[in-house]
Amino acid sequence: MDKARIDALVAQTVPPQGLFIGGAWHEGTARMAVTSPIDGRALTTIADASEADVDRAVKAARAAYASGRWSRAAPAERKKVLMRIAETIEARALELAVLGVRDNGTEIAMALKAEPGSAAATFRYYAEAIDKLSGEIAPTAPGTLGLVHREPVGVVGAIVPWNFPLMIGAWKLAPALAAGNSVVLKPSEVASLSLLKLAEICAECGLPEGVLNVVTGQGAVAGQALGLHMDVDVLVFTGSGGVGRRLLEYAARSNLKRVYLELGGKSPNVIFSDAPDLAQAAAVSAAGIFRNSGQVCVAASRLLVERKVQEEVTELLARAAEGMRVGNPLDPETQAGAIASEAQLARVQGFVDSATQEGARLVTGGQRILQETGGSFFAPTIFDGVAPRHRLSREEVFGPVLAITPFDTEEEAVALANDTDYGLAAAVWTGNLSRAHRMVSAIDAGVVHVNTYGGSDGTVPLGGHKQSGNGYDKSLHALNKYVNLKTAWIQL
Ligand code: NAD
Repeated sequence: MDKARIDALVAQTVPPQGLFIGGAWHEGTARMAVTSPIDGRALTTIADASEADVDRAVKAARAAYASGRWSRAAPAERKKVLMRIAETIEARALELAVLGVRDNGTEIAMALKAEPGSAAATFRYYAEAIDKLSGEIAPTAPGTLGLVHREPVGVVGAIVPWNFPLMIGAWKLAPALAAGNSVVLKPSEVASLSLLKLAEICAECGLPEGVLNVVTGQGAVAGQALGLHMDVDVLVFTGSGGVGRRLLEYAARSNLKRVYLELGGKSPNVIFSDAPDLAQAAAVSAAGIFRNSGQVCVAASRLLVERKVQEEVTELLARAAEGMRVGNPLDPETQAGAIASEAQLARVQGFVDSATQEGARLVTGGQRILQETGGSFFAPTIFDGVAPRHRLSREEVFGPVLAITPFDTEEEAVALANDTDYGLAAAVWTGNLSRAHRMVSAIDAGVVHVNTYGGSDGTVPLGGHKQSGNGYDKSLHALNKYVNLKTAWIQL
């Protein structure tokens, strides 16, 4: 990674940002300050969209959709534009990554890969898919013809969180646009900058005006206005369960729009004593909870370990946590960056305090660090002796805090793994192939890793079971969210 180039990008001031509506920038009625979690300093200001601003964006999206310039463009045309977007994201990857890191504090090594890297791959994946998916001719009786058309839904509202804005934004935008929809995107107020830059890139690459609109602002105002809007056909969301519930209510109170939710997790990472390599299991498990300072939906936040290797695994994990380079996320050597906001840091501290009160044992970490930088940093933290009833076993922290719970048998491991309202991700470490398959089928989660944690790519779906959500991002399955099926029934 080019350190001099990073320094040059960091030296640039970020100008005040507007709302991107109908292909043009608008100041918006009010402004909000953006603070960098790296040093607590003001970075810039963004527009704080009102209900009227959101309405304007939805109207622009609807007008673009009705014009047919994108919705009825030949698939090969749409493919060309989305390919260009993928290439431009790739060409400007470092610029996008640095801007995002200044905004949300993710360590640059991870941000570069997960943000522009993954966003470019996502745009390319759906660009390539557009002209390869066909409708169906149904096996109907002679004398009749049943055709199944796949049509865009119309206007998609997308609301995304702050941990990986570009990656998650692309997971929504690329399939929605590929299918021919118009979109109104509401980034998190904590991290909007890279998605505003993406809007600029999309316009430069030839996406017709009004097809993508970006409204920044507060969830309770701009997000709510989008959720309640009568002319939004589908709402796609990644974020917390609490807000997900509200979106379902908004849909019920307005036009019954379809709502797809990608929510949080409390993911079990199960290490058996027959794991092929305990040192490797501990190292990967540490990365699985501490990278991006635990602000990862699939974070491996509950470690279930077979009692006979508990001491050894805990010791290995403690060493990994203490050896982790936490600090300035713009340093390519940093392994865990900042917590995205002071509010989130206070929440993490609250979980640590309650774990101690509930009787779990603090193994390492447990407090804010590097306060002299002005930034929001938290030490990688491990508790053991965490009981299933403890808050640390049940609630998502979204920070660098690991809960360790021992088990004795495979049955007990399955029961503990599934003793949660969530069902997003899981892992099992074992050298026994039959046990691996038994565990994959027994654990109720959207993804179960075996002898690894967190591996994935764009070809496989990501989605939650139980209260981790519904619907899938990534893979061809994600396209289903953005199309309506229409039957043409023809009497021959
Ligand atoms: P959040 O739910 O607080 O906010 C997410 C988005 O919702 C933001 O844009 C916010 O402005 C908006 N919002 C807030 N209140 C709203 C309201 N009343 N109406 C409409 N919109 C509203 O989540 P966060 O703190 O930004 O992100 C962390 C959460 O996201 C965690 O729970 C994490 O697990 C989850 N997440 C899930 C996945 C996944 O793929 N399942 C991926 C990343 C993050």
